Amino acid sequence: MKIAIVGTGYVGLVTGACFAEMGLDVTCVDTDAAKIEALRCGRIPIYEPGLEALVARNAAAGRLHFITDLAGCIDRVQVVFTAVGTPPDENGAADLGHVLEVARTFGRLIRRPTLLVIKSTVPVGTAARVRAAVERELALRGETIDFDVASNPEFLKEGAAIKDFMSPDRVVVGVESDAARKTMARIYRPFLINNFRVLFMDIPSAEMTKYAANAMLATRISFMNDIANLCDLVGADVERVRQGIGSDARIGNKFLYAGCGYGGSCFPKDVKALARTGREHGYAMEVVEAVDRVNERQKNLPVEKLRALTGGDLAGRTVALWGLAYKPETDDMREAPALVAIDRLLGEGARIRAYDPVAMEECRRRLGDADGRIVYTRTMYEAAEGADAVMLLTEWKELRMPDWARLRGAMRGDIIVDGRNIFDRAEVEAARLRYAAIGK
Ligand code: NAD
Repeated sequence: MKIAIVGTGYVGLVTGACFAEMGLDVTCVDTDAAKIEALRCGRIPIYEPGLEALVARNAAAGRLHFITDLAGCIDRVQVVFTAVGTPPDENGAADLGHVLEVARTFGRLIRRPTLLVIKSTVPVGTAARVRAAVERELALRGETIDFDVASNPEFLKEGAAIKDFMSPDRVVVGVESDAARKTMARIYRPFLINNFRVLFMDIPSAEMTKYAANAMLATRISFMNDIANLCDLVGADVERVRQGIGSDARIGNKFLYAGCGYGGSCFPKDVKALARTGREHGYAMEVVEAVDRVNERQKNLPVEKLRALTGGDLAGRTVALWGLAYKPETDDMREAPALVAIDRLLGEGARIRAYDPVAMEECRRRLGDADGRIVYTRTMYEAAEGADAVMLLTEWKELRMPDWARLRGAMRGDIIVDGRNIFDRAEVEAARLRYAAIGK
């Protein structure tokens, strides 16, 4: 089968490479000409473990192509996926501009029955708007061509995207016709040969499933952050509490880690967009709204903890930031807690020495060096040289067990702020360092 994927970002590129690996002929389309040119030359624009080799192998096998215009492949493909971005607009709603642009292009170009699959995360009702946009283009052309729309939200996690895509817990597909259902079943069969876990449903339910999943996961995180903050006030240890509740089979032990808040391209925007959908329908999503508020507050907590240990004045202090990406194994800094911390620290007159195993270039691209107030370093210890405090914000493996004596020797001050609760207080304090974590 031949398919096109429009939007070659984190989701589109992983989806394309994985479908190609399973034998489909995939054309990845992106309007970003520099990105397409890089991919054609074998350069991967994002950091995702295993992706470079997967792309190289399938491109060399002739199953994975990169172009800038859907027109270049529309007559070859039976299915077009949209994997373009749906960033938040100024009101917190999902901006559907890119998705509707793809729909219009699809409507202008198709010459035979084709299935349009929405993989981008979109609010309930978007598939209907996409269908209407395609119909309008066909009407302008004076043509009637059979086309179908399906919803296929994506659940992969950055950092483990290939594994998630290759062996998904489930695949959710919203369809309106038997033909679309058959096509989607065929596309996903190679991934689920032993245990076919494609959940077919109506399109609005598929669209809602994606938001409900992300909001549920974000709720667990914000809930634990609320519990952690209370633990701090009453003298309990959130790590013990986590183990205590996570061993309850009804609760389960995933997504119960307190810390400096969730970031990334999905949870923050999807939680906001779901709350917004509620408001648009005259319904206040009380839980979801609170999840977002708790998270915004939590992102400020590492700097608050630092202020408490320094007596409140950060002017002239040097802070080593360990971890810039919103989570390990990615260079993605969208909505990263580090951005909030950097903004606050610079705002209060501090200087920053930043280190991240892969997100340094991304940080430099976004923030530059802030007139020399952000210094990018080659190692975690170099970041700590002359620093008054070390603040850990991303729990990369290489940051998890520092040589505390070496660190103490490199630092000017003695403060460790652990935004992810990964260090052992006794170890840190044994090196004559002062330690602050979240709820422990
Ligand atoms: P991204 O920003 O990394 O990539 C989007 C790409 O689409 C960009 O390369 C952009 O140039 C391209 N694009 C925009 N308009 C275009 C057009 N008209 N034609 C062709 N290309 C166009 O985004 P992403 O992180 O891959 O997310 C894509 C969608 O998937 C979003 O809706 C997101 O919510 C959802 N999603 C993301 C993740 C994730 O972990 N990143 C996981 C699940 C779902």
